[in-house]
Amino acid sequence: MAYDKENIFAKILRGEIPCDKIYEDDYVLSFRDIRPQAPSHALIIPKGEYVDINDFSANASDHEIVGFNKAISKVADMLGISESSGGGGYRLIANAGKDAHQEVPHLHFHLLAGRPLGPMVFREKQEYK
Ligand code: 5GP
Repeated sequence: MAYDKENIFAKILRGEIPCDKIYEDDYVLSFRDIRPQAPSHALIIPKGEYVDINDFSANASDHEIVGFNKAISKVADMLGISESSGGGGYRLIANAGKDAHQEVPHLHFHLLAGRPLGPMVFREKQEYK
């Protein structure tokens, strides 16, 4: 999929739409999700134009990939949700594509925390092998 420069996170990165910022550096922007699904729900996005993790892993520079990964733990520590910062831990989710219900076509990781988060995914009756 080609990158859509008019997606909502591109507009947030350009400052055209406000966000509740948590952290920013050369590689990433982190802000609170507008419809939180846990007591703490942060998003972290790369500044580069990548549709999803597949696009990012294949096409981002090593600096971007390292910068993005380091920022995840930094944000988790800043929010106090990582166990090493005294929190109860967190779940990191990156939806990619339609079966994962990715809504916004700019790579983003969700950091969810603040309560026991239950099973990892919705389970249908049928078990997968
Ligand atoms: P996805 O389903 O693509 O993994 O998640 C997209 C997330 O972006 C959703 O959790 C949604 O609430 C969040 N979101 C959508 N539009 C906005 C917005 O304008 N601002 C913020 N902060 N979050 C948004």
